[in-house]
Amino acid sequence: MNSILEDFRTATKKFAKEQLSENAKEFDENEQIDPSMIEKLKEQGYTSMMYPAEYGGAEVGLDIVCSVVEEIAKYCASTAITLVGHLTGSVACLVGGTDEQKERFVYPNETKHNIFAISISEPGAGSDVTSISATAQKKDGGYVLNGNKCFVTNGGLADIYVVFARTDKNDRKGGLSAFIVPKETVGLHVGKKEKKMGLRGSYTTDLYLENAWIPEDQLIGNEGDGFSIIERTMDRTRVVVAAHALGIASGAVEYAVNYANERKQFGRSIGEFQGLQFMLADMAIKEESARRMVYYAAEQVINKNKNATYYSSIAKTTASDAAMEITTNAVQVLGGAGYIRDYPVERMMRDAKVTQIFEGTNQIQRMIIAKYKLNKK
Ligand SMILES: Cc1cc2nc3c(=O)[nH]c(=O)nc-3n(C[C@H](O)[C@H](O)[C@H](O)COP(=O)(O)OP(=O)(O)OC[C@H]3O[C@@H](n4cnc5c(N)ncnc54)[C@H](O)[C@@H]3O)c2cc1C
Repeated sequence: MNSILEDFRTATKKFAKEQLSENAKEFDENEQIDPSMIEKLKEQGYTSMMYPAEYGGAEVGLDIVCSVVEEIAKYCASTAITLVGHLTGSVACLVGGTDEQKERFVYPNETKHNIFAISISEPGAGSDVTSISATAQKKDGGYVLNGNKCFVTNGGLADIYVVFARTDKNDRKGGLSAFIVPKETVGLHVGKKEKKMGLRGSYTTDLYLENAWIPEDQLIGNEGDGFSIIERTMDRTRVVVAAHALGIASGAVEYAVNYANERKQFGRSIGEFQGLQFMLADMAIKEESARRMVYYAAEQVINKNKNATYYSSIAKTTASDAAMEITTNAVQVLGGAGYIRDYPVERMMRDAKVTQIFEGTNQIQRMIIAKYKLNKK
């Protein structure tokens, strides 16, 4: 492990333990992370860690981004996904935006960094993003956006929304475009906050666009670049979502192991029973395999390996399936206590589920993986 990665991991471990181990339960119960947490993420440099140094960023690679997200998710998956939602939106601007757009919206100055959200999904467009129906019609030197978006992570929290809408109704893929939509935009309305199974501290909302006029210079790239921007963004952020799942898994393993050492039944600690040892061993096997896969995939993205998407999809499925299995088994290790909200593992189990769903469901990931294998891309 290189020393910068090690330093980031150590500092984040300390931050996450101090700031989140006590608060995660409250964020979940209140269905809202403390808004001051966003400022803390900014102060720590996590929201700007991918930006250039001259704009106050650390210009870190994807491996370090993954380690930060993993360590935060270990204690509070809601806080971690708030950061991931921001990173995903800002990466869409970084991969497709002009220097002027980046300087104006992504890093206006060294100390002010906007919080981002990405808005692709719609009630009728989930796994199939080419069925996006929000429209962007050219008017008065800009575009008029109309449509209903859903499932927006950081909805209501973000300063900037990266919104995908249709500029050509006759071209499903090539007719999609991406727009920078600041929160003050007239005609942009944030809908109600969803009540979720897990990640309850994070904000997930609908977004309504009613004749929202966006100047031409807030189109990211060219008209029709939307699909490619989604692909290029996800190629980088899918592995970060995998790291988020890995963090949840890692938190559950640690808690279950400590509990197994302390809890006594039949005159012995329950960790001495082979039936439970095998369960703990399987959890460790899944966790470590997922960790290797996540950081291997991050390396492939950093090195621009032509099979990076294939490895990112494998990392995402491996880590999220591991997170679901591990957190479910962590509840089992704790017995009745595992089912009680005073203990964190039931929250971890609820938080883990969505990692198999968002950023492309695991069925969609398996389609990508199979396509690579069959076409030997
Ligand atoms: C908490 C949360 C946060 C989110 N954050 C964001 C966000 O910030 N921005 C954003 O744009 N979106 C976000 N999403 C949306 C998320 O990306 C979608 O939920 C996801 O892509 C799946 O789309 P869907 O829910 O419409 O499911 P559907 O596409 O309707 O899928 C339903 C089921 O069918 C399966 N399926 C669909 N097509 C196929 C196929 N071809 N082969 C096999 N199985 C298939 C799916 O795997 C799934 O099991 C978020 C969702 C949640 C729950």
